[in-house]
Amino acid sequence: MENTKSKDILYIVVPCYNEEPVLGETSSRLKVKMTALIEAGRISDKSRVLFVDDGSRDKTWEIIEGLHSSDSLFAGLKLSRNKGHQNALLAGLMTAKERADVTVSMDADLQDDINALDSFLDKYEDGCDIVYGVRSSRKKDTAFKRGTANMFYNLMRLLGVDIINNHADYRLISKRALEALSEYKEVNIFLRGIVRQIGFKSDVVYYERSERFAGESKYPLKKMLSFAFDGITSFSVKPIRMVTVVGFLVFLVSLGFIIYAIVQGLLGHSEAGWSSLFCSLWFLSGIQIMAIGIVGEYIGKIYTEVKARPKYIIDKYIDQTDENEKN
Ligand code: UDP
Ligand code: MG
Repeated sequence: MENTKSKDILYIVVPCYNEEPVLGETSSRLKVKMTALIEAGRISDKSRVLFVDDGSRDKTWEIIEGLHSSDSLFAGLKLSRNKGHQNALLAGLMTAKERADVTVSMDADLQDDINALDSFLDKYEDGCDIVYGVRSSRKKDTAFKRGTANMFYNLMRLLGVDIINNHADYRLISKRALEALSEYKEVNIFLRGIVRQIGFKSDVVYYERSERFAGESKYPLKKMLSFAFDGITSFSVKPIRMVTVVGFLVFLVSLGFIIYAIVQGLLGHSEAGWSSLFCSLWFLSGIQIMAIGIVGEYIGKIYTEVKARPKYIIDKYIDQTDENEKN
């Protein structure tokens, strides 16, 4: 009995969308890791792995139920329908917050090295409320994914969004930081940006990112682009400001043209000028449509925020801790 202080309860939150091919392997690897952590006395034996089924169309939920009924380590949360990675993650974190002292979020495909958990817990014991997992290299990602990801991080930084390079959603968050997170009411949630706003003591842990061992990426290019766009428009109004600046510059240029035309007219050199007319027409129309588009993007965002619809709806929750309380 060297340590009488009760150990902290850790919940690992894993969003799953059509992850039937990986859940078996993922759950057994997590089981080994969690058992080791519990036996080493680092976390309470009431710790759980919480799988969040984000409206999967395959047998994901049945597998989660099976895991839960054979082992109390596993808990499951079923959303009413597919709401996307960020919302599924948030649903899991908010549910875990009621039962856990500390949470770690990770993807179902275990591309993030679960052995980094030890370092996460070290930092947590040192008093960090948030620990960010950062990929030390992206060698295992495809060149395309690497390239687009780099562009994304650079663009975000350029637009003034505070974001950690190569940090995805593998991170530790304490209960009190989660309480703070729950105060952010926005509907368009971009966790990587919001968690940075919470503050508290934080640190980073580096790890090697590996390949997805089964199943395929749930982030096709289209989803990736809309994710990037959401991230930017949720955190930065610079695009709107840039549009204004461009508009002003174009206005200055056109003033120059007008003066030039008047002078030419007074000197009696009338020009045919069809080509210049057409060029400027198309150029300006393009810029105008783009500007309207960007402004519209923000108005759309305001529209969804004003409606303040729920970010997710919980269908079912299964957790041995809750079942024990009832009996
Ligand atoms: N995911 C989800 N809902 C979705 C899409 C993805 O919960 O609509 C989950 C998915 O199951 C995985 C994580 O988000 O656990 C990351 O997805 P994925 O590994 O496909 O993305 P990548 O690693 O290729 O960026
Ligand atoms: Mg993945």
